[in-house]
Amino acid sequence: MYRLGFVDEPVPGHESYRDRLSIPYLTRTGVVALTFRCIEDHSCKEAGHSKYLKPPAVSSRLYNTTALFTDQPFIAIAEGELDALTLSISDIPAVGVPGATNWRRYYNRCFEDFTQVYVFCDGDTAGREFGKKVAHEIEYATLIHLPEGEDVNSLYCKEGKEALWSLTGLTNTSYVTPAKRTTFPKSTYPEPSSPWASSHSVVSVGAPQEQVWF
Ligand SMILES: [Zn+2]
Repeated sequence: MYRLGFVDEPVPGHESYRDRLSIPYLTRTGVVALTFRCIEDHSCKEAGHSKYLKPPAVSSRLYNTTALFTDQPFIAIAEGELDALTLSISDIPAVGVPGATNWRRYYNRCFEDFTQVYVFCDGDTAGREFGKKVAHEIEYATLIHLPEGEDVNSLYCKEGKEALWSLTGLTNTSYVTPAKRTTFPKSTYPEPSSPWASSHSVVSVGAPQEQVWF
């Protein structure tokens, strides 16, 4: 689904990406960009190279923009492609910003139809700065500060997807079919006039404190 790859036999011009993980930026129309991540167990800084390499002339983009077409009223923003991927496979649809400094102001338009935008901030200074910047631009942003020294992937590896869900404050115990149906606590009610109301159907069911989105 995410079509990650490994550069074993690079095409001409891609020799510098040998032995790296290839991460395609997929959209509905196909691959629009690529980045190559070092997967050695070392400090890339000390090894004298960048953890991520991009072909020249490839501009910075949001990763995993197909998540923007989710049926859910919420979405997450993560720092980095792999953190976005980890959230998405944990049933929290997420896009990734390739590096804390690569947020672009006009990205905020992508999130206008969501009632909740969870910004997962790495547990470091750059992560906290990233969160502040994004929260300044997006009306419904909720900052989720990961524990000091942690990022989405490290927390997932230690404690699983439940740890990521619990940080959102949402419950996934009634989360029956991902991307189809979710029950939310009353605190996350959208107002009837909220911007996404025209693009999502809202049906009231059962107890008055619950609504179900289809
Ligand atoms: Zn490296």
